Amino acid sequence: MTTLRTVAEVRRALGPLRPGTRIGLVPTMGALHDGHMSLLAEARRRGCEHLAISVFVNPLQFGPEDDFERYPRTLDDDVARCVEAGVSTVFTPSPAALYPPGFGSSVEVEGVTAPLEGLHRPGHFRGVTTIVAKLFNLTGPCVAVFGRKDYQQYKTLERMARDLDLPVEVVGAPIVREPDGLALSSRNRYLSATERTRALAISGGLRAAWRAFERGERSAEALLDEAYRPIAAQLDGIDYVALVDADDLTPLSGPLATADRPDGRALLAVAAHLGRTRLIDNLVLGEDPPPPGD
Ligand code: AMP
Repeated sequence: MTTLRTVAEVRRALGPLRPGTRIGLVPTMGALHDGHMSLLAEARRRGCEHLAISVFVNPLQFGPEDDFERYPRTLDDDVARCVEAGVSTVFTPSPAALYPPGFGSSVEVEGVTAPLEGLHRPGHFRGVTTIVAKLFNLTGPCVAVFGRKDYQQYKTLERMARDLDLPVEVVGAPIVREPDGLALSSRNRYLSATERTRALAISGGLRAAWRAFERGERSAEALLDEAYRPIAAQLDGIDYVALVDADDLTPLSGPLATADRPDGRALLAVAAHLGRTRLIDNLVLGEDPPPPGD
């Protein structure tokens, strides 16, 4: 496995591999956990012989109130996990290596970026699409795997690749959860033991809505209420508990099952705060299994 720090090193290492080798890319911000590992496994399953991972805490996607400075950085452990997973290339640039003085370009995707995170983290998706476009250009992957934990991010990057004819297949992999239902996240390490317990109300709320959906409930308001109540009881603040179309992310209300969507399939997405920690989670009703738990 090689660890690369600069754009020139990546070009030198990966350029000669193309077009013969199927490169799979997994972009991350590090503090790797089993969720990230599942993305590497998915790239492998899709026939990628060369697994490339980027570990980069991207300043462009953090707002002034966000946790950029204190975001966990655990590079030695991350590299050890990558060796174990059979990764070929780890790219760990410094911000200056990717954003030299005078950097002034960006990629902006409209539509799917507007609701949910777009309302609460202005500029976030521009930072994400810009860095991922750069990583695609640098590494030239056939396949790039993202987690559905960040469902809106996955849909945004899928849209970007389609709109800009980028020659890469964007794949969304299922959310990996703890046995008690908590979605794995690098930010979970911020939680105290009591906050960790209270955080279970998020997956609990998703599960309550899943159960109601299984019983045949198709009213958006009733399903939102099922999810909202446990979350509001335990979390310190809620940015949103929302039901949106699972493909274009437009807000849904009233009856979910319509002529265009007879099964009522919809994304139920949550963002909420515990102390200084912001957590997100989601579930596609009519598609995903329920989060585990009581
Ligand atoms: P991050 O390092 O948090 O930016 O995440 C890097 C990638 O890992 C993104 O595509 C995330 O959606 C994905 N990811 C993070 N947590 C999970 C999880 N629990 N299950 C599946 N994918 C995840």
